[in-house]
Amino acid sequence: MKIRDDFIPYSKPCFDQSEIDAVSDAVRSNWWSKGPKTAEFEKEFAKFVGAKHALALNSCTAALHLSLAANGIGEGDEVISTPMTFCSTVNMVVNCGAKPVFVDIDESTGLMNPDNIEKAITSATRAIMPVHYAGQSCDMDRINSIADKHGLLVIEDAAHAVYTTYKDRMIGNGKNPTAFSFYATKNLAVGEGGMLTSNDDDFMQKARVLSLHGMSANAWNRYSKTGSWRYDVLAPGFKYNMTDIAASIGLVQLARLENMQTRREEISAYYNKQFEKLPGISLMKETGMGRNAHHLYAILVDKNELTIGRDEFIEILKEYKIGTSVHFIPVHMHPFYKEHFGTKEGDFPAAERLFSKTISLPMHPAMNDEEVEYVANAVREIAEKHAR
Ligand SMILES: *Cc1c(COP(=O)(O)O)cnc(C)c1O
Repeated sequence: MKIRDDFIPYSKPCFDQSEIDAVSDAVRSNWWSKGPKTAEFEKEFAKFVGAKHALALNSCTAALHLSLAANGIGEGDEVISTPMTFCSTVNMVVNCGAKPVFVDIDESTGLMNPDNIEKAITSATRAIMPVHYAGQSCDMDRINSIADKHGLLVIEDAAHAVYTTYKDRMIGNGKNPTAFSFYATKNLAVGEGGMLTSNDDDFMQKARVLSLHGMSANAWNRYSKTGSWRYDVLAPGFKYNMTDIAASIGLVQLARLENMQTRREEISAYYNKQFEKLPGISLMKETGMGRNAHHLYAILVDKNELTIGRDEFIEILKEYKIGTSVHFIPVHMHPFYKEHFGTKEGDFPAAERLFSKTISLPMHPAMNDEEVEYVANAVREIAEKHAR
């Protein structure tokens, strides 16, 4: 095939004039920080997932941090999570002063394997943090029932799971504190942003106070007509609030989400068909336990069937002008975790095996058919050329 001139990036935002207009309106409104647009986005998002409360923040990382901090998790506590996640999930456990404990995944889905959880529970365990990897839900009935049995909290990392359901329940519907990401590459993007959802009034009140310096009243209350200049600092909080500029994009993206998801489904289905019978390429398994938000599309490179490995496959895709990513370098393999928590290669073999063969291809709603076909043809050509 002929190699194209322009690069297909791994990801890019999907927007039209409505996002641009929304930002212009937010800028002209004079509310540049947290204000009425943020409140409206919180309300709409809570309605969308079916939670009582939603707190708009400047990242998913902030939502994870607040979930731990507002529950008083810290020194002497252990939190169980997965190595197959972005570092921020586990970094926040460490930043609270608690100890991260990893449990291995199911290699076929990338999701935390509930069979491994109970072995990892000690008298110090306080919480389980599952990650809805790639847009599929973890087995929440099993995880919740283990948590209930041992009196543990469940905090869900839903960075990949805007639009995901578990069975017929929306992820973020309020049972557990749930952290969403609106980072530039995520299914619903505002640049930098996140959302924390929960049904628990006390927890959400604490998280809200901690999200804005620990102050008893936020800027919107203070600077509006009816507000007062007076506030009390109730805790040494953080600076995690969303801005109205970001929220104005979020509202438009939320309205566009259904269409964007339809496009993700289309592209994923097309790729599935193209890669079904390719030598040396296999695909991630669908759990069939809910709606997949298709945040990632991964191909798995089998180095026993090909003359090249995963890393070379990525380099050749780059020569074809195709950007890729890898989700994820297992957290326990990073130097910090090795040095401070004694983790090492071999500790979580399923996560390490998945890591060694996975490539995330460009799969996002801003791609046109020509680009999607080009990526599929390139993957086919590379695999066929290098078949053993
Ligand atoms: C992107 C991501 C995060 C962090 O999201 P931010 O909004 O960038 O803080 C956390 N967990 C997972 C699994 C992610 O992919």
